[in-house]
Amino acid sequence: MSHNIITELVSIVGNSYVLTAQEDTAPYLTDWRRRYTGKALAVLLPSNTEQVAAIVKLCAHHNIAIVPQGGHTGFCGGATPDNSGKQVVLNLKRMNHILEIDASNQTISLEAGCILQSVQEQAAAQGFLFPLNLGAKGSCMIGGNLATNAGGTNVLRYGNTRDLCLGLEVVTAQGEIWHGMKGLRKDNTGYDLRDLFVGSEGTLGIITGAVMKLYPLPISQWTTLIATQDIASTIALLNLFQKRATSLLTGFEMMAQESLALNEKHFPQMANPLQGRPPFTILVELSDHESEEHVRQLLESILEEAFEAGVISDAVIASNLTQANSFWHMREQITLAQATEGANLKHDITVPLSTLESFITETDRLIRAQYPGVRIINFGHLGDGNLHYNIAPPEGVDPQTFNAANEKRVHELVYGQVERCGGSISAEHGVGQLKLEGLRAHKGAVAHDLMKTLKRALDPQNILNPHKVVSI
Ligand SMILES: Cc1cc2nc3c(=O)[nH]c(=O)nc-3n(C[C@H](O)[C@H](O)[C@H](O)COP(=O)(O)OP(=O)(O)OC[C@H]3O[C@@H](n4cnc5c(N)ncnc54)[C@H](O)[C@@H]3O)c2cc1C
Repeated sequence: MSHNIITELVSIVGNSYVLTAQEDTAPYLTDWRRRYTGKALAVLLPSNTEQVAAIVKLCAHHNIAIVPQGGHTGFCGGATPDNSGKQVVLNLKRMNHILEIDASNQTISLEAGCILQSVQEQAAAQGFLFPLNLGAKGSCMIGGNLATNAGGTNVLRYGNTRDLCLGLEVVTAQGEIWHGMKGLRKDNTGYDLRDLFVGSEGTLGIITGAVMKLYPLPISQWTTLIATQDIASTIALLNLFQKRATSLLTGFEMMAQESLALNEKHFPQMANPLQGRPPFTILVELSDHESEEHVRQLLESILEEAFEAGVISDAVIASNLTQANSFWHMREQITLAQATEGANLKHDITVPLSTLESFITETDRLIRAQYPGVRIINFGHLGDGNLHYNIAPPEGVDPQTFNAANEKRVHELVYGQVERCGGSISAEHGVGQLKLEGLRAHKGAVAHDLMKTLKRALDPQNILNPHKVVSI
């Protein structure tokens, strides 16, 4: 049977775009963190929506599961097939065209396979900001960003991917095309289909195109690194910036010392310009449409107030773009420093800012008491209440051994604290296969049942990314 299917797939996308040889498919079968490796009947590279629809119809006919894939940078194994060798991977990288930049409507229409960085660059060339920004921007694709509802470093000011999306084109599990590429800021015609597909991680439909919001490019940006001594001061600093800088505040990232220690270990050339390795290093960015002078003065006056109030102990304002980029680089390299160090136990969690201090204090205390010597790699988009609260084994202890012995209990401890603080076990990375169980345990029975009802209604054959997000 598989031979016939391959022939039929070739007739849809062409011989060169149905990959079956092991050396060709391998790059598509292991996730970025190297946690999951699957097998696939074939990796398909369609070039347009009609081809995607024809593939889905064919797969539905033969009951073959499809794993949609963008840049394959996701952190939850959502774009990796299972081990059966019976699923096909449908990668959208050839669908990488910007369709239109509508300057008057301040929108960009594009295909799902566009790489985020290239969207940012093409928008900037026309004088616009496309504000979605994350460390994987050179590889991740808009379709993947939408499917995971990615967050990143500008959520504080511009929202997450969902907030930036106005319209979608989606291929359904039946191979129909929903033409929803409207650039409307208001459309109250019943159920919001767009929001149903955003964040559905390829389980309800395949996103083939989108209309996204654009913003005017800021004329000046000031980036600063600030030292704080504890989490209470860090939150006080955030509140001060929120009050004084309001919408000019575009970034507020937190790096606890143990996360920067990993940077120092693996990228020693990347020095923290702040004195004496403070417990918390905060990266703050202000962006302005008025003038360089205006925002610089505002920043200096906020820092002065924070010093006087005893909230901060040191600060360095980037003197040029290169230095500003090096500050951001420091923040982004933590992900790579962790990958170089070896596997750790990851938690992409969010809690309301009002319970953040309690979450960190209590979870730190419990973790250190129960697992002496572990390193708490705590960093993240603190302005959004989003922490990457990761637990690395003590220096010198083999990560695989430590993780195998402690993974379940550590997750339970951290997620228990998340629940106590009114948070969520996935802030921005999604669920995929990694958090399937976690979602079942923490989403709440009614919400979980509603999700399964939606999945059954839209994909009754269960062919779109089965056993990701929810199992039916
Ligand atoms: C260095 C680094 C930094 C990162 N920083 C952040 C960050 O700050 N914030 C953040 O949110 N994430 C971050 N991520 C995670 C990741 O980049 C995001 O989840 C991103 O949105 C995934 O996009 P992708 O194109 O790689 O999707 P993939 O990994 O290919 O897919 C992710 C999920 O979406 C589905 N999917 C992909 N394309 C489609 C489509 N067209 N239609 C339907 N379903 C689809 C897949 O099936 C899978 O379930 C980071 C990753 C790395 C490696």
